[in-house]
Amino acid sequence: MTQPADNETTTDIYRRQFLGKTAAAAGLALAPGMILTEVAHARPADSAASDKNRWGMLINTEKCGSGCTACVTACQTENGWGGEDNSEQHSNASQKAVWIRKVKLKDKQTGHVQSLPLMCQHCENPPCVDVCPTGASMKREDGVVLVDKHICIGCRYCMMACPYKARSFIHEQIQNQKVHAPRGKGTVESCTMCVHRIDEDGTPACVEACNADGHKAMYFGDLKDSNSEISKELAKNGGQQLRPDLALNTGVRYQGL
Ligand code: SF4
Ligand code: SF4
Repeated sequence: MTQPADNETTTDIYRRQFLGKTAAAAGLALAPGMILTEVAHARPADSAASDKNRWGMLINTEKCGSGCTACVTACQTENGWGGEDNSEQHSNASQKAVWIRKVKLKDKQTGHVQSLPLMCQHCENPPCVDVCPTGASMKREDGVVLVDKHICIGCRYCMMACPYKARSFIHEQIQNQKVHAPRGKGTVESCTMCVHRIDEDGTPACVEACNADGHKAMYFGDLKDSNSEISKELAKNGGQQLRPDLALNTGVRYQGL
């Protein structure tokens, strides 16, 4: 890896390398607002994110294994978070970076317990975006909600606004981060729906891992395409939002709640 110059952090190096590649590929001047656009729109210019798509997920809680954390492990491996546990700052578990977590829901009347993965719900009307003072918290045309780490000032308004507690604040220097998932001390992060994979016509790592593990509890696809597997499954068996009363029109839906 490139060695840091004086006063340059690892994050600065990744940023420099990333922006260098992006600028060269796109041939664009990098004004502050443009950084946001280019980070978010990693797709080639001839196939930019479009409102013709709305990427979403459907999770069948009946198929989700209660002791299984394959989706969490896959997300950590893919996006490089979760290795900060030895830091002193992380003596408080609630301050650890978490992009996806397994939670248990218990029906108070029946006692029935369900296990499900919870991550950013990629809301159509995202409160995290509404409250962000810099525009760092943003939604792509195709519905994927992201944080531009380069203009995030770490105020954490978005974390307070998110009803799903889907966002984390980074307290420490980050080492060995992935180029496709830039992270930085003093910024907020959350599930990107593996946008780098989507932009290559791929499948999010958590969904892939769930399938590989044999549970097949997670679907990914285009909610606007009536012929996609996820749309057909939703049409056939339905799917619910978590906290539908909030009217956020989430891109992540659940079956079996
Ligand atoms: Fe924003 Fe939270 Fe909705 Fe994700 S789940 S889009 S972080 S409000
Ligand atoms: Fe993690 Fe990608 Fe799944 Fe989001 S879509 S929870 S970033 S693996």
